[in-house]
Amino acid sequence: MLIAGGIVIDVDGERPADVRVGADGRIAEVGPALTARDGEVVHDATGRLVIPGGVDAHTHLHLQVGAVQVSDDFATGTAAAAVGGTTTVIEYVTAHRGQAPLDALSIWRAKAEAACIDYGFHMTFTEAVTERAVAECIEYGITSFKLYMAYPDSLQVDDGVIVDVLRSTSRHGGLVTVHAENGPAISALQREALLAGRTGVIEHSRTRPALLEGEATARAAALAELVGAPIYIVHLSSAPALAAVRAAQERGVDIRAETCPEYLYLDTADLGGEGGENFVCTPPIRDSWHREELWEGLERGWLHTVATDHCPFWMHDRRIGTRGRPEGWRDFTEIPGGLPGIETRMTLVWSGVRAGRLAATDWVRLCAEAPARTFGLWPRKGSLRVGADADVVVWDPERTQSLDAEDLTMRTDHSPYAGHESVGWPELVLLGGRVIASDGRFTGAPGWGRYLPRDQVFAD
Ligand SMILES: [Zn+2]
Repeated sequence: MLIAGGIVIDVDGERPADVRVGADGRIAEVGPALTARDGEVVHDATGRLVIPGGVDAHTHLHLQVGAVQVSDDFATGTAAAAVGGTTTVIEYVTAHRGQAPLDALSIWRAKAEAACIDYGFHMTFTEAVTERAVAECIEYGITSFKLYMAYPDSLQVDDGVIVDVLRSTSRHGGLVTVHAENGPAISALQREALLAGRTGVIEHSRTRPALLEGEATARAAALAELVGAPIYIVHLSSAPALAAVRAAQERGVDIRAETCPEYLYLDTADLGGEGGENFVCTPPIRDSWHREELWEGLERGWLHTVATDHCPFWMHDRRIGTRGRPEGWRDFTEIPGGLPGIETRMTLVWSGVRAGRLAATDWVRLCAEAPARTFGLWPRKGSLRVGADADVVVWDPERTQSLDAEDLTMRTDHSPYAGHESVGWPELVLLGGRVIASDGRFTGAPGWGRYLPRDQVFAD
């Protein structure tokens, strides 16, 4: 296929160029005014942008939270991702306490065989692990790990484990990602709220203040500095956390941070209103002034990537909560947290370009190039250079798309952006040279996705 007449945007800048996809599913040629060959399909991309497929470095396509589970699976979630312009996901596997990491991985591997787009895995440790366990994951191509500083009852590890894992991971060239919130302090605030009879949705946000995200982010950065290891902060949501990242960057710590569209567009007013339970995610969405700081962080390069933390629940499951109560959850701690987003990330960040907050090249870097580089997929992913996988999005900057749940492909009955029409949407999406979405419709199939063993991370 020859994609002709568009504006190519990738690591080499923004310029008019044609893109030739080879029979091997890789980029064969990029340049001005390429001549179509006999039998070659030509896609006219005049007036369109031609970009590398998006890389979403944070998804949950298989996850059980108490009595409920996420409403998308690998087949449905990755189909939605493709429609929205994302062709690679990195999914979080959780090794629960007492479970061998490779056993957890085999569960996720079986689920992921249905994926429609390419995928890799991060591994979450919820207790101390041996260096051997880290090395085994890396041999398998899992080069990034996650540690929680919150959820003491189930997921959190203490600072000593963080130091140990930072050390063993960095010895093997891997990267630790961190959920940075101060779990024990949050638990104390939750107990106070419940004792005082404050059980409503808004308490989810009040008991997880930005201050405690800032504190944990600063602590994670200090532990990385102590060890001399790189670190990556997932789903950064607030100004104090961003300030902690900047302070660490200024003293030379190799720290990178991701934010998510929900923190760029939603705020506590959504949580406080009707149906507020459908806006519960962790960290919580913040007061609106934080958003301005996050946009500035993206623009100035203090924030490195935009991922989704895609983690959708049916409204029914929100209501019955993690305890599965038919009469409904009793207090805010029982509401499963997470939002749908795998399909809408590219267009929501593109909206920042339309609003003049970001350059188009920033959009491609934040959504494709930087996550590919950071997580060991570069230059196979996140790039349109010759030899890269032909994961190509032909982006129509003027195409409108309703963000109501029923108009999206994600398997969810609630959209955080309901009532909004986004401008900018893919007209054609290729995965390894095959058309996986066209004219807003999914044209691929479960099983098209390939497992991506990843290199040691932080390519420059
Ligand atoms: Zn997550």
